[in-house]
Order: sequence, then structure tokens, then C-alpha cells
Amino acid sequence: MALDNVDIARLKQLLLEERQEVMEALETFGVSRSTDGGYDPNFADISQVTAEKGEADALIQPLKETLVEIDDALNRIADGTYGLCMKCGKEIPLERLEAVPRTKYCTPCASLIR
Ligand SMILES: [Zn+2]
Repeated sequence: MALDNVDIARLKQLLLEERQEVMEALETFGVSRSTDGGYDPNFADISQVTAEKGEADALIQPLKETLVEIDDALNRIADGTYGLCMKCGKEIPLERLEAVPRTKYCTPCASLIR
């Protein structure tokens, strides 16, 4: 086990901070606050709204994917598998985890996948 509790606590903190940033970014698009999912009837030009919605979706989608990756990483911390490559099972170097705390692959595996 290469990661000690201090490393994990620090990485978890990084993940939580990034999660907060992503949540706030999503909130600026009105994603997490939309409770009824309805449309504002004051929007007259539907095509305009649709175009803007498409643009927003293009920005929102990667944020949502990032959020899922962060939550996955937090789950792996909880179940003790954090820091292990999901592909080859080897330990991910601490420097890589510090650069990208939500990563689930070691550098060689990540370069094969992307
Ligand atoms: Zn690997």
C-alpha cells in the first residue's frame, strides 16, 4: 500500500474541492436547481432557446462526466481501492494522483485508453 492515510486525506480534500467547483459550475447553468424541469413561458423565441440549450448541454456534459469520476474516486476511497489502476491493478503513482485525483488508471493504461 503506497498511499498512507495522510496522502488519502489530502487527495480526498482535493476531490471534494474539485467536486464543489463542478457543482457550482453546474449550478450556473441551472442544472442542480431545476426542480420542476419546466420552461419559462416568457421565452418567446423557441428556436433561440433551443440553440442556447444545445450550447449549454455541450458545456454541461463534460462537467457531469467529471462529477461522476469524482464520485467514483470518492467511492473507491471509501472501499479502500483508491489509488489502484482499474485496468492493470497496479498502484497509481502519487504524483499522478496529485495531478489528477479522480484518475482511475495509471499513466501507461490511460495512454492506451485515450
Ligand atoms: Zn494500469
